[in-house]
Amino acid sequence: MTFSVLAVHAHPDDEAIWTGGTLAKYADEGARTAVVTCTGAEGTLRARELERALDILGAGEPRLLGFADARNPDSAPGRPRFLDVPFDETVGLLVGHIRDVRPDVVLTYDGFGGYGHPDHVHVHRAALAAVEAAGYDQLYLDAGDPWRPHALYLATIPRSVVTSHWRAIFGADPEPGQALPGVPDDQVSAALDVSRWSERKWAAMHAHESEVGRGASMTMLTSLPEPARTQMLSNEWYRRIAF
Ligand SMILES: [Zn+2]
Repeated sequence: MTFSVLAVHAHPDDEAIWTGGTLAKYADEGARTAVVTCTGAEGTLRARELERALDILGAGEPRLLGFADARNPDSAPGRPRFLDVPFDETVGLLVGHIRDVRPDVVLTYDGFGGYGHPDHVHVHRAALAAVEAAGYDQLYLDAGDPWRPHALYLATIPRSVVTSHWRAIFGADPEPGQALPGVPDDQVSAALDVSRWSERKWAAMHAHESEVGRGASMTMLTSLPEPARTQMLSNEWYRRIAF
């Protein structure tokens, strides 16, 4: 059986930013890889950019749930915000993709959604519920045959990496009491050196051209000072939950 990896993300561009190195590495090593993106609709510019990014990463065709970004209704015109969709419906849709792909490993964000974006936090919760539910033959009977992945990997950043680059990125120290991205270093259970795939990751990030100049996280990442950029492109970190 071919090893299989499924990443579950909120927005087109997150697959490259958070898991691009991991996806490229496993695709090169012969694994089947796939990405579910919860917001963004087919036929939009961002969906076409996602298609290009997935092509660069070797992760197949887009699997779009088609809901709207919490902060950008144009991401899926006329569709509900992902955050407003009944939780059970979202979990059922994700169960369908898990049972279709039959992944050994599922990737998503940590419990803080990496840096607190409400769509990311929601994806974390839905993916956690869906990975468990997918294994039960009593649940979501119309969504395919039961399948239980071995592990869920939560993309995160070691707190020491966040604090060491904070000043270079934001020009000041964090405010006292500010909620910082990432988790304490001793809670990171897997650190992947993806430096061999960092150019592919960079190219996949830049496939999301419309995001690069929009002032969102892509703008911040593409304007990162060295060595923060090299460190972020060459490493991907995860917390592991076994099932
Ligand atoms: Zn995002």
